[in-house]
Amino acid sequence: MTEKAYQICINPDCQATYGIDQILFSCDKCKSLLDVVYDWERLALPRSLEYFEHRWGTKGLWSEGRLDFSGVWRFRELLPFVPNEAVVTIGEGRTLLEQCDTLGRQIGMKPGRLFLQYEGLNPSGSFKDNGMTAAFSLARMLGRRRVACASTGNTSASLAMFANKSEPPMQGIVFIGTGKIAYGKLSQALDYGALTLQIEGDFDACLRRVMQIADKLGIYLMNSVNPFRLEGQKAIMYRVLEALGWQVPDWVIVPGGNLGNCSAFGKAFRELQELGLIKRVPRLAIINATGANTLHQLVDKHKVTWNGGRYDRDKVSALYKVMDDSHYLPHTIASAIEISRPVNLPKALRALDVCKGVVREVSDDVILEHKALVGRYGFGCEPASAASVAGLNLLLKQQIISPDENVVCILTGHELKDPDATVKYHTGIDMKALTPPPAVTPTGVCANPPRRVADDLEAICSALGETLPV
Ligand SMILES: *Cc1c(COP(=O)(O)O)cnc(C)c1O
Ligand SMILES: [Zn+2]
Repeated sequence: MTEKAYQICINPDCQATYGIDQILFSCDKCKSLLDVVYDWERLALPRSLEYFEHRWGTKGLWSEGRLDFSGVWRFRELLPFVPNEAVVTIGEGRTLLEQCDTLGRQIGMKPGRLFLQYEGLNPSGSFKDNGMTAAFSLARMLGRRRVACASTGNTSASLAMFANKSEPPMQGIVFIGTGKIAYGKLSQALDYGALTLQIEGDFDACLRRVMQIADKLGIYLMNSVNPFRLEGQKAIMYRVLEALGWQVPDWVIVPGGNLGNCSAFGKAFRELQELGLIKRVPRLAIINATGANTLHQLVDKHKVTWNGGRYDRDKVSALYKVMDDSHYLPHTIASAIEISRPVNLPKALRALDVCKGVVREVSDDVILEHKALVGRYGFGCEPASAASVAGLNLLLKQQIISPDENVVCILTGHELKDPDATVKYHTGIDMKALTPPPAVTPTGVCANPPRRVADDLEAICSALGETLPV
């Protein structure tokens, strides 16, 4: 391989490599996930993380320091897979790490030890923008004009925003399930003009379909099986380190859904350590909702570990078979992590291995109580995000985290993404139940209603104005 950046199969018994211009979302040979890797020796690398401070003078300037304005591309030497001219940025990643002692005190942390990383402050209101900027930049570099994703909401909101801000613009296509999306998120996809297909099925069904469609119609896939998205999400950890004066925290706690974010964090720390830019890695805690706890089951009940990449695939298939046989559907108020077959499972196992990680599950009631605490003592977050703080509380009680360790909880999405959940918590009233949607045709000039489509390939193709290729 002569390129400075390329893709490699994460299966240690395969390790097939592909150029970054090859569009595929799993290894052609063995179907495992792909990683983006770099030949660091041949790239200009900073000697220390302090190097990035020279961009602080230009990071407020949109006009001059276009790339420095972005909280992702400010660290471009650490994700060097696109030329600067190809980058698609909307000023993502200008987020805050907030020390939060009032909340810390409520759950028993010592002062000065709890930090909240507010990724809800991204342009589309969730951390997804960190990854979208990276994947869109690659799509632009490869001249793609149509992009698609399946989404529990935030991925579609982010994709829709980036699609209409790209130059040239791209068509954003969004697959959502039936009745499983917070209105704040759906409203964004519609408003930004994405073609929204509401498939009769859950998230996992949507993901299966969008992958088939991407493959058959040559549409660029933006779900987190896209390894370039995870490259962008590494920057969340760079910003955490930056805000802590380049000190590595003791713990990073993150909610786990499709497991892309935790995987990106693990990759970020592994690379920084290999490059000698940090001396140790933090421990990682991944928090599932009880109603969507596949990772928790696999790791804690079935003892599945990364095992150098030779993790026990039979145990995973066995669990999935049990779920299939019992027609199991995940169910949690934290809709952003309502996922039962996390596509990045192997990479998450690797992140747990690199960061001596733990996995926990927290119930919806506990999530909502912690969401209310974040609202009372912080800037608020959506339900899935509060799983990280709920997880911290649990790990404190279990004495796995001690009150004087430095802990960063990732607040993945903005409070206003899901106002129904908040109003219901505070009033006991289910707003949606009170107002069933009336059967009307929208009259707005820019109205962009979702189209209902059966969970069927041909029907989906025809909704996209195409016929299913044979
Ligand atoms: C996507 C999302 C998650 C889950 O992240 P994964 O990378 O899928 O594990 C958690 N919280 C919010 C708000 C999200 O949008
Ligand atoms: Zn392979």
